[in-house]
Amino acid sequence: MSPAQKGTQAVGFGFLLVVAACEGPAGPAGVQGPAGTAGSPGPAGSEGPAGPNGQNGQDGLDAVVDPTLPTLDKALIGIGGQPALEALDTVVLTASGSRWVDGEGYEPGSPSLLASTFDVTVTNDLTASALKYEWERVTTYFGGVPLSYDEVIVGDVGVVAGVDSVFGFSTGDMPSSRWAAINKQNALLNPHRILRDALADPSIATEAGLRLHDGVLYEILQVDDGFFPLDLYVSPTTGQIAKVATMENHHLMRDVPLEALYAGWQVWGTLGPLFPSEVSLSVDGELFHAETRSSIAVNPVLAPTTFVFPPGSAPVFDTTLADFGYASSQFHQATAGLGLPSDLLQTFVAATEIAPGVWFLGGGSHNSMAIEQADGVVFTEAPLYPERGQALVEWAKQQFPTKPVIAVIATHHHFDHAAGLRAFVAAGVPIVTSTHNESLLREAFRAPSAVWPDALHFDPIEPILAVVEDNGKLTLNDPVNPVTAWHLPNAHANDMLVIYAEGTNHLFNSDLWVPDPVTGGFAIDPTWALAVRDFAENRIGANPIQVGGHGGVDTWEALDAYVDAMFP
Ligand SMILES: [Zn+2]
Repeated sequence: MSPAQKGTQAVGFGFLLVVAACEGPAGPAGVQGPAGTAGSPGPAGSEGPAGPNGQNGQDGLDAVVDPTLPTLDKALIGIGGQPALEALDTVVLTASGSRWVDGEGYEPGSPSLLASTFDVTVTNDLTASALKYEWERVTTYFGGVPLSYDEVIVGDVGVVAGVDSVFGFSTGDMPSSRWAAINKQNALLNPHRILRDALADPSIATEAGLRLHDGVLYEILQVDDGFFPLDLYVSPTTGQIAKVATMENHHLMRDVPLEALYAGWQVWGTLGPLFPSEVSLSVDGELFHAETRSSIAVNPVLAPTTFVFPPGSAPVFDTTLADFGYASSQFHQATAGLGLPSDLLQTFVAATEIAPGVWFLGGGSHNSMAIEQADGVVFTEAPLYPERGQALVEWAKQQFPTKPVIAVIATHHHFDHAAGLRAFVAAGVPIVTSTHNESLLREAFRAPSAVWPDALHFDPIEPILAVVEDNGKLTLNDPVNPVTAWHLPNAHANDMLVIYAEGTNHLFNSDLWVPDPVTGGFAIDPTWALAVRDFAENRIGANPIQVGGHGGVDTWEALDAYVDAMFP
């Protein structure tokens, strides 16, 4: 890599790669890249003198590694040398940064939204497999709610100490999904763990050729983490890791690339391996996490109380949840980043018949409604993930063994409200959605899902979609329980449908108004609740009972009183 390349190697996320903080005046000429490789980067640029951590000049700062070395050896040199890596016992790291979430914007396909900013102290005892994140987070989605909490992991269990939900809750004993997601992200942000695993068991590391990243060729060291290969992009000249790429599951878009990018590898203090000063994570090309490290202490002595769980903690390890969380780590990291941790696998359907033939289907954070018609059953909403969708399909089979599911009406494209649809598609059920959401859903329904296979992956079928135009409606007729999906313009999502069961006067909405007979209900933005009231009064000319995709079932009067209070 030439000095010019080094100085201008943008990674596309708003900051420049500034390689080798210790880079000094011109040094000896670099070595040639791998022989005979077309398009290889050629002679390495000039480099500074050996860094302070020099181990025979092979400390990762010299930027001259023997081109004949195996890629793993190069990577070991690039990270500061095998002795330094093997001697790494404890690390305390402070950083600040931001977390984003995708699939929650106004339009389908909107860019990621800022979920929170954070200051964090990360303490890692690699020998003891203990890890602690001390978060000071300010979530932005609900208007700047500060959250202060610790995530503490020891071995195969962990706890959350402090409030990690904008609703004032603490996760407490960590579901193994969260535990797995934290461990996975920690290893991606600090690939030392990956190299140590490869050292401990060389059979998991293989050389996988050369690949381009930002116009520069890297040697690929592929490390098997037992789930999906981690591809380490190792510089053939410096041995430094520029990127780790893998694939993981996105509940709606399924197989997506997950990449960690590193910049500013440097020695912190005087000893130990190098750590990057800038690290980011992207999912499917969208920035999800970025952090800037302000201090890193290598091998400090830790207080014996560092990883002690709060009194009363009793976390247990659950293999199913751990796999679920590892496969989709960024779902758990993103929901935690929003201050809406969603770590349990919600497959329990709590069904309540709220009127003849109309069922409220709760049991977790996201609800559905089922309406029995003469010839079949209509669902509103298939939230969360295909596992939730499958649970709803199974419930329908048990409850209505002689009737098919005629349709699912999706309220809007947000991943937490749409990602259960694939289970209904796999069952051959038509999907009703807004014209705005059609192309995104078609893409989601034909997406491969090899990382975390679902029914549609094993048995792909052509989805049946019916679309509702802007300000339009679509009615599924029935003599007793007709159901109409209406497009409702609002500031939350441009593809929003609400569903009216006129036979029993029930209106189902997601996110605009959260009905709750205990608290009186709320709206994230009062104008969204106003939109629901205006819609009901002006377009359907009724005062319907409110059924929420979040919350529960409550009266029209509760909505009416809330809007009156907000807009006197
Ligand atoms: Zn939403």
